[in-house]
Amino acid sequence: MVELCDLHTHTAFSFDGHVLPFALCKAARRHGLFGLAMSEHFDFYADDSYIYYDLFRRERAEAVERMRGLFGGSLRIWKGIELGQPHYNLKKWREVMARESFDLVIGSIHDLPEKENIYRIPYRSQADCDRVFESYFHEMRRMIECCGMDILAHLDYPVRVMGGVFEGSPDLRRYEGMIRPILRQCAEKGIALEVNTAGMDKWQRCPGPGVWVLEAFRQYGGDKLTLGSDAHRAIHCARGFGRALAMIRQAGFDRIVYFENRTPHFVPIG
Ligand SMILES: [Zn+2]
Ligand SMILES: [Zn+2]
Repeated sequence: MVELCDLHTHTAFSFDGHVLPFALCKAARRHGLFGLAMSEHFDFYADDSYIYYDLFRRERAEAVERMRGLFGGSLRIWKGIELGQPHYNLKKWREVMARESFDLVIGSIHDLPEKENIYRIPYRSQADCDRVFESYFHEMRRMIECCGMDILAHLDYPVRVMGGVFEGSPDLRRYEGMIRPILRQCAEKGIALEVNTAGMDKWQRCPGPGVWVLEAFRQYGGDKLTLGSDAHRAIHCARGFGRALAMIRQAGFDRIVYFENRTPHFVPIG
């Protein structure tokens, strides 16, 4: 049997999380996972306006320790962080990374410049989608250039909220020219690409990014893929992992990776 782990989850210590760490760990064990990363949000803005993470810094660290004590041998628990557009405030990013240690660091783009939140933009036409993706991939390249990370999260993130408007396949072939340089960048820097399964509960009904993206990443020399449910509730832990594994195998990978103390460890997937 293949042993899996969920490297992208959020508890109530994230501003949009709806689950206590204990319930999430129980769900992970119920799914037979061997490991779980709590990767709470820290979003960066030029004006330093994000305060949620710091409000619960001590409590969050204590909760991770407590869960490790409770679940001990049956579930490995990793302390992660999901950095949202850290390149918007490099001073703050350096501060966060210097003061705290993590098992894994995830990089994401949730907001375009000027605090344009990708979830809240009104998408009325394909042109709106194209504009957002263009800016999104541009920011992603800059983030990878400027900031260190272990994992690049949800490459296809904006497509989640474009249902009914987005024309063509959700596997983003449309933006192949913008995606390929990002894959090459990640492969060269040794950054893992995440297969994010949140799309199972969105209009596209499948994990992302698409198989062709994973394949292209492998061809550029990328050897690290992670599995992340992006769960904000216990019921979403490990969602769609079977489907994601099939996609990963289809793309020619025979292993996935997890991080402990920011060191990659490979897990064969047969
Ligand atoms: Zn995210
Ligand atoms: Zn997330």
